[in-house]
Amino acid sequence: MPSYRNVILGGGVAAGYAAQTYVERGREPGSLCIVTAEERVPYDRPPLSKDVLAGGMDPEEAVIEEIGFYVEHDVEVVTGSRVTSIDVDGRTLETADGEAIGWGNLLVATGSQVRRLDVPGEDRGNVFYLRTAGDAERILGAAEDAATAVVVGGSFIGTEVAASLTDFGLDVTQVYREDRLLKDRPLTAEMSAFYERVFREEGVDLRPGETVARFEGRARVSKVVLESGAEIEADLVVVGIGVVPDVEIFERTAIEIDDGIVVDDRLRTAIDGIRAAGDVARWPDAIFGRRRRVEHWDCARAQGEYWARAMTGEDEAFDYLVYFFSDAFDLSWEYWGDIEGAERVVYRGTLDDGSFSAWWLAEDRVLAAFVLDRPDEERDAAQRLIRSGRSVDADRLADEEAPLPE
Ligand code: NAP
Repeated sequence: MPSYRNVILGGGVAAGYAAQTYVERGREPGSLCIVTAEERVPYDRPPLSKDVLAGGMDPEEAVIEEIGFYVEHDVEVVTGSRVTSIDVDGRTLETADGEAIGWGNLLVATGSQVRRLDVPGEDRGNVFYLRTAGDAERILGAAEDAATAVVVGGSFIGTEVAASLTDFGLDVTQVYREDRLLKDRPLTAEMSAFYERVFREEGVDLRPGETVARFEGRARVSKVVLESGAEIEADLVVVGIGVVPDVEIFERTAIEIDDGIVVDDRLRTAIDGIRAAGDVARWPDAIFGRRRRVEHWDCARAQGEYWARAMTGEDEAFDYLVYFFSDAFDLSWEYWGDIEGAERVVYRGTLDDGSFSAWWLAEDRVLAAFVLDRPDEERDAAQRLIRSGRSVDADRLADEEAPLPE
């Protein structure tokens, strides 16, 4: 049985950045192995719903490191290999092919799986979900021969895919059960209204407050029927209604599961040598004093890098301010913090002209901030003010003429 000092279970973003940092820190060749169900080496997912689906980027360009990197540094990458069971006491994994792999330290970076839409016709060949580079390639293949698309979901995948397929040249209808786009993720009602105006101007047919009743068509879907009775012609459908953490193989182990794998401030499970990172990890956020699981690229990257530093001698707690970003049409925004518990929001700049920042406050402390087309000093201030937890003058924040609070 092959055995490695360090094994990463999963080949996504956390794995890719973990391997990169591990190698940068000069660890000995042959001491790291990545086991992944995918047929490729780890790649970044953010481009998939953005440039890739707009037709402007080959998924191959999204790799975190080329195959040659793993070969050169003797990092074993076992691709196309789904791990089906784990023996925590015996420190071994078993794959679907019956191969066993031993570990000294294990990073669980299994990520998440898409939530499926449970309606008739969902299993037709032109109903897609977007999670992997292979999914993106299949959607693009279908888009080549399509004129119309229905996108189901009003959150990250929904908005980014609707924008990208519109840029690709399709007539897109976006169906979502919420009453507004990116509702509290993190958009306020005013921000959603601005977003929806841009989407409509770009040609997306928005259908808020709607759910899919069924997909119609023989081998392929040709029509989407909504609960309201509305019918929409579709050459292809993309569904983005969330993901669930991939924890199945740990369910009969002593590893604590509570909407993800529960870890401490060093991403450690209660089992010696096993840590978790990325979508699957529920970790204690010291800045906000609450446990959370984050399903965004930057957190997976940061946790993967953190694990590699921990495996190579560092012993600091994982210190991280939640951050994510999104791009749709010309709307490229960034966000830090957590809106939960906010009592009010102030804006700096004007929503209508698409250059503004939003600041969520509780008792004059900044909890979260969003910036869209703003000077870098607002990006810096967002991180500084949230981390410091200091009281700020909200009127000054909202006044573009006034300098930002120190
Ligand atoms: P998401 O952000 O978790 O949003 C899922 C949406 O689907 C929510 O609005 C949810 O509503 C709704 N929903 C859940 N079940 C539904 C159902 N049965 N029918 C209709 N709507 C339903 O998930 P996503 O947009 O699919 O994205 C998938 C993952 O990729 C997420 O983890 C996301 O963070 C990540 N992602 C991130 C980015 C980025 O950071 N820019 C881009 C793409 C993807 P409720 O809130 O009411 O449950």
